[in-house]
Amino acid sequence: LVVPSWHQFTTIIKEIYDTCIDVKDGNVATYIPQLARVNPDYWGVSICTIDGQRMDFGNYWGVSICTIDGQRMDFGSTKVPFCMQSISKAFNYALAASELGADIVHSYVGQEPSGRLFNEICLDSKNRPHNPMVNSGAIIVSSLIQNKKNYADRFEYMLSQYRKIAGNEYVGFNNAVFLSERATADRNYALAYYMKENGCFPAETSSLTDALDFYFQLCSLETTCESLSVMAATLANGGVCPLTEERCIDSRPCRDVLSLMYSCGMYDYSGQFSFHVGLPAKSGVSGAMIVVIPNLMGICLYAPPLDKLGNSCKGVAFCKEMITRFSFHNYDSL
Ligand code: GLU
Repeated sequence: LVVPSWHQFTTIIKEIYDTCIDVKDGNVATYIPQLARVNPDYWGVSICTIDGQRMDFGNYWGVSICTIDGQRMDFGSTKVPFCMQSISKAFNYALAASELGADIVHSYVGQEPSGRLFNEICLDSKNRPHNPMVNSGAIIVSSLIQNKKNYADRFEYMLSQYRKIAGNEYVGFNNAVFLSERATADRNYALAYYMKENGCFPAETSSLTDALDFYFQLCSLETTCESLSVMAATLANGGVCPLTEERCIDSRPCRDVLSLMYSCGMYDYSGQFSFHVGLPAKSGVSGAMIVVIPNLMGICLYAPPLDKLGNSCKGVAFCKEMITRFSFHNYDSL
């Protein structure tokens, strides 16, 4: 087992979870009613290690007498569904790169932190979006996925890939979020037209509104802390889901998405986060974030109130505290 003293580890994680209940900073996102109405007190932590498969101890007459969750733990609001929002950008990139290879994907989008807001209207010196973690880059990445097919098939493909990455745990779709996203998306339309003018889209993209709908639909995919921790664990495990042992993401794109999460995953806090915490992470406006400890575990943190930069206040506080208790920082081993 990757974490030898599991019991001790869960005890400390629970202590950190409890400490962060007192973090009352931040405000929930209000640009769409579905996020504005969410309970600000939701606070969930789920962890799934890379050997997180459920273990069955004895099975008599078809009745399981003792099933323990390999190495998984869940504290608080871990069964509450929330939308992926920007966390989808990481998985969309990993799937696009698994399908097309890094060279093709990166002919359309760079790897550089933009140093600007996530939805800023700007391109790099080669007229590409700066990276796949900002809106412009994510819109282009979604336009590359399975783009010889129709949108119904493309959506179905993504839903099934997400479920595979989550080891068949909960991944749904929130249509109210999708409709609200589309209704309030002036900036994303502006971004898309600006990118069309600059020749950023692949030739297959004929309708910008359809391309944006697909992007909004991916932001509106719904998970829970529990299922998203499995998705994060799949990244920690090099692209192989630890529950099913199925390969979902190729190993190179898995490495690449972790690099991008490390440098660009936390909006304009990305540099500070990698400095202080030293782990690849991706956050979204719903207040969720994933943190990946390569070869060890995937973590999902969920608490809706966001700081000024758009990251979950409790989520960031949890990571900072965790790094004082365990040597998980990328450079702790030196
Ligand atoms: N739905 C948002 C947008 O495209 C993304 C929000 C986020 O950053 O999580 O504007």
